[in-house]
Amino acid sequence: MPEAGLPHHQITQSQNHSSSMIRITDEAKEMFTSTQIAPKSIKLDAGNGNLGVQWADGHLSAFPYQYLRDRCPCATCAGKAPAPHVPSSPFPMFGVSKLKPVRAELVGRYALQVFWSDGHSSGIYAFDHLRELCPCADCAAQQREIESQTEK
Ligand SMILES: [Zn+2]
Ligand SMILES: [Zn+2]
Repeated sequence: MPEAGLPHHQITQSQNHSSSMIRITDEAKEMFTSTQIAPKSIKLDAGNGNLGVQWADGHLSAFPYQYLRDRCPCATCAGKAPAPHVPSSPFPMFGVSKLKPVRAELVGRYALQVFWSDGHSSGIYAFDHLRELCPCADCAAQQREIESQTEK
């Protein structure tokens, strides 16, 4: 029974959905070489209400829309911390379809700006921050480790 972690192979299977996909051009890739963490491709609709990011180092991230929005880094959203308890839904992966990114744009060479279906668009996700937000088991474990080290 698949749960919160979307198997990565599902993302690669939907590569035909080019309309909602941002391809990082070779030119842009060169710009990215100065940053350690850069996406190779970004898919707004990677399936199951996820935004998919394939990173230059081969890592794949699937961000549930609501998860991403809850962590919107803009001044307005950052003011109100995400609710510590996400209301439990019997179908957490399928009950988040209301709010979704309608498009996304690269901001310079370091960030992704997401335009949400409710008109909100001031959230600019720096790639290194986005990578930190990766909800996959590996990254989550890594984040927990970092957090436990910084907590006093
Ligand atoms: Zn925001
Ligand atoms: Zn990850």
